[in-house]
Amino acid sequence: MVDIEECGGKMERLKDEIMINIEELNNKIFPLADRRELLCKYAPPCPQCGEYKQIQLLVWDETPAIWRCRYCYKKYTFEPQGV
Ligand SMILES: [Zn+2]
Repeated sequence: MVDIEECGGKMERLKDEIMINIEELNNKIFPLADRRELLCKYAPPCPQCGEYKQIQLLVWDETPAIWRCRYCYKKYTFEPQGV
C-alpha cells in the first residue's frame, strides 16, 4: 500500500527540484536571449564578400560569436566591442 504521507513528501521535493531547475534555466536563457538580440543588432558584414543582409548568427553562447554568410558560406567570428 502506498504511504500517502511519504508520497506527499516526495511530490513536494519533486516540486522543489523542478522550481530550482526552472530558475536555473531562466538564469541561463534570458541572458543568452539578450545577448543574441544585441549581437544581431551589431551584425557585421561578411569579411569575404561584403554581404550584410544574409548574415546568420550561428553560435552566440560562446565568445566570440560565430557567424555565417548565407551568400558565400564564409564562416567567421565577430564580437562587437564596447557594447
Ligand atoms: Zn559572404
